[in-house]
Amino acid sequence: MEFTSAASVEEATALLVEYGTAAQILAGGTDVMLQQARGEISAGVLIHIGRIPGLVGITGNGSVRIGPLTTHRSLARSRLVLMTAPALAEAAATVGGWQTQAVGTIGGNVCNASPAADTAAPLLVAGASFELTGPRGTRTVVGDSFFIGRRQTARATDEILTAIVLPHHPERTGDAYLKVGRRSAMEVAVVGLAARLTLDVDGTVEGARIAACSVAPTPMRIAEAEEILQGSRMESEAIAAAGEALTRAVSPIDDARATAAYRTRVLPGLLARALGVAAARAERGVG
Ligand SMILES: Cc1cc2nc3c(=O)[nH]c(=O)nc-3n(C[C@H](O)[C@H](O)[C@H](O)COP(=O)(O)OP(=O)(O)OC[C@H]3O[C@@H](n4cnc5c(N)ncnc54)[C@H](O)[C@@H]3O)c2cc1C
Repeated sequence: MEFTSAASVEEATALLVEYGTAAQILAGGTDVMLQQARGEISAGVLIHIGRIPGLVGITGNGSVRIGPLTTHRSLARSRLVLMTAPALAEAAATVGGWQTQAVGTIGGNVCNASPAADTAAPLLVAGASFELTGPRGTRTVVGDSFFIGRRQTARATDEILTAIVLPHHPERTGDAYLKVGRRSAMEVAVVGLAARLTLDVDGTVEGARIAACSVAPTPMRIAEAEEILQGSRMESEAIAAAGEALTRAVSPIDDARATAAYRTRVLPGLLARALGVAAARAERGVG
């Protein structure tokens, strides 16, 4: 296996074109190196992108732009993220232990596209878009179209994820991410759920977004639950109906971490709790 370090996005994409399917981008390596060691992938050439300038950091000017090399540790501590999308900070704070958070990146998390990727659900409820750069230039893919299958994204093999953009944060909007794991952190999610609410001044739900991970081949939005909550005043009947819609929408599997039945059973309670936190944050105008 060869190793090469790219100095620019242009160099990295040229290397992706040159080596084709033998190439594998390497960011923090917390997924790639394990997958290589387990024989799940067999990269001929690792293209390290960690030294490319401009791919790290979080900036805000109405929208929030997150460089793909931003680590989970930085996301969890970012004041901008905590103020505009605390669900994303909460998710980042549950990715593995501190060692994984210190080197694992948001770009690696979404490009690896595990069904259990913690940052995916908060990004979906925030309406994130994904900027992809390749030999044909730069294009933007909106959240719902980015995750297209188990470990599959809309990224072409010669493209690099160069930014994740969270749109302008409306007033009276709040979100939350809750994760069920055998241990609350250090562990890939048994189920993860993000909720985002925008409330009217009288408490009516003006906008609702719900997304879950570890319940289907891809992280997913739950449109039916969102529609039920929209226009409600978060009455217990509406929350219960949204919970039922959520359990109907998912297709979890049995695996070493939990059974499909357990995953389905915990979802309504998790949704009710996440909605409660999101609503309180919306009222306070945080997140
Ligand atoms: C002990 C341990 C615990 C973990 N716990 C969790 C957990 O609780 N929750 C969770 O979600 N994940 C968890 N993970 C998985 C992993 O840490 C995350 O997915 C991490 O964010 C991956 O980032 P990375 O920079 O290490 O990616 P890498 O391993 O470098 O790359 C991952 C994939 O993304 C591609 N890639 C990376 N950056 C780009 C880019 N900019 N453009 C295009 N493709 C790119 C790579 O080619 C590769 O396919 C855990 C891993 C370990 C080892």
